[in-house]
Parts: sequence; structure tokens; C-alpha cells
Amino acid sequence: MEHGKGVRDVSALPKAHLHLHFTGSMRPTTLLELADKYGVRLPDALTSEHPPKLRATDERGWFRFQRLYDAARSCLRAPEDIQRLVREAAEEDLQDGSGWLEIQVDPTSYAPRLGGLTPALEIILDAVHMASRDTGLPMRVLVAANRMKHPLEARTLARLAVRYADRGIVGFGLSNDERRGMARDFDRAFEIARRGGLMSVPHGGELTGPESVRDCLDDLRAVRVGHGVRAAEDPRLVTRLAQRGVTCEVCPSSNVALGVYEKPEDVPLRQLYDAGVSMALGADDPLLFGTRLAAQYGIARRHHGFSDAELAELARQSIRASAAPTDLREKLLTGVDDWLTS
Ligand SMILES: [Zn+2]
Repeated sequence: MEHGKGVRDVSALPKAHLHLHFTGSMRPTTLLELADKYGVRLPDALTSEHPPKLRATDERGWFRFQRLYDAARSCLRAPEDIQRLVREAAEEDLQDGSGWLEIQVDPTSYAPRLGGLTPALEIILDAVHMASRDTGLPMRVLVAANRMKHPLEARTLARLAVRYADRGIVGFGLSNDERRGMARDFDRAFEIARRGGLMSVPHGGELTGPESVRDCLDDLRAVRVGHGVRAAEDPRLVTRLAQRGVTCEVCPSSNVALGVYEKPEDVPLRQLYDAGVSMALGADDPLLFGTRLAAQYGIARRHHGFSDAELAELARQSIRASAAPTDLREKLLTGVDDWLTS
């Protein structure tokens, strides 16, 4: 083991998974089976490259990423496909030591194939409930609006999310290309969501710099930021995140796959950790990036020299930043201590 430390199995470390997208959680083998079932011809990048080569630092690269995502999503056509996707995501997460999963979805993009927006959301929430019951992994849902669409659509979505909050929705997000659509255009939608008791969990600081993280804090009152890694470019912002206790949902494999950083060691994990910024490591889109939850902790160990005590602290941060009820949190935190003393 490098650095003479880090001997415990990171898959056995209890943790919360707070950044996983719906279609992006699919097993590659399941995608192939569903494509076969519906006669969908997938782009070569999804069938021959594992994982596909991506680069999203320019708009064309991001567009390519979105096209692959859309192709994968087009294979989810029936409630049983949705149920399978969620059940398998839960199974994979359990194998990686997850004790709590918040899965993120924009139901708008599933609505055309599932009978409309509300039916789509109901099918998704039912699937999450069933997967949770069958696998034993507690799960909740983050409903995310799309930055590329009109802010009025986001408001509609926020109202719907609030209406279904008691069916397992805990937060409201904002995803897609940060270079399009200002955070402040979506402030009304986030206000609706916050008033309805949902956490504000937008993406920021991935494709654009620290200013997009600041916008998430100032305009959307984010309690967690999806990615947020590029806050590291502004020391004052880093201090602010640490002082406010805002958690960054950091997804190292995703950052490298999309070219946000050249190499795993360039992801500013150590810098954020040492500055006291809370982090929750996440897999983002394992289907497209090739790795799942435990591998992110593996990156922290291998490329950033995190000791087992530090990995345990990262896991605690993910648990504390989650929407998990107090008794479950306590149980998971005790599990982290047990892992460390094992
Ligand atoms: Zn994401």
C-alpha cells in the first residue's frame, strides 16, 4: 500500500451517496439488453468503448456527452425498465458500502415515454420505494431542473417536487451546461422548492469557475453544490464554503472523464479537505465514466494520499450532508468508527 497506510477495504466503509444521476447509474450490460429489447441502435461510443472517451471542456464535447446520455435514456421506456434501473443502482451502491442513496432525476426528460410529467415522477418514486424495500438500501430522490430549458419549466417542476415531497423527494437541483443559463434565472424555482422544505442542491463549479459556485450560494442558497470543485481557484470562496458548512459533491472520476482536470491527482480533493470544506464523493454517471462510488474513495487514497482516518472523515462528511434521518445517521457514523477500528 502506498504511503504505508490505507489497508482497509473502502467498499466496506459506510457512506452516503449524494451525487448519482438516474440514467447515468445504469449498468452497461443493462443498457445493451434494453437497446436490444427496443431495437435501439446505440452510438458506437456506448457499445465499443468502455468507458466512452469524452471531453466536455468545450460546448461540442458537452453536446457529445449529452447525446450519449440521451441515447441511453431512450432505452428506458416502460415502468419495469425504470424499476430495473433503480434496483440495480441500489445493488451496486450496497456493494460499494453505501448506506444512503440520493438519486437525481429530471422527470421532464422521461415524461414523453412514460405518459407525462406527473406519471413519470410517480413511476420513478414508486421504483425508488420498491428498490429500497427489496434491497434494504434507504433511498431518496433529488428532482433536478435543466439549465438549458426555460426557467418557467423549472418552476413547474419545483411545484411538482414540493407536492410529492412526502413520497421521498428531499432536494431540488439544477443540472446541464453551466455555460448556459444563469443560476439567478432559476431563483424563483429554488425559492418554491426551499419554501416547500426541499434542500437546494444545484450543480456549479464544474464546467465554469468559482463564480458559478458563488451564484449557487447567493442566488439559489445552496446547502450543497454538485461538484463545486472549481471553487478551489478562489481561496476566499473556499473559506466561505468551509465557514458556511456547504458541502461539495465531488466526483473525481467524472471530472477526469470530462476533462475538467487532466489527471485524478489534479482534482483539488486535498486542497478542499485541508481547508475544511465538507465533501461527499459521488460517481455522477458510472455508465459513462466507468467507475462507481467506492472507486472515488480509492482515488482519494491512491492519488491524494488520504489515510484511512481521512477516508473515514470523508465518509462522515457525506453522511452528515445527507438528508438521512438522525437515527440512521447515527447508525452509519457508528459504522464508520467500527470500520476504522477494525
Ligand atoms: Zn452531476
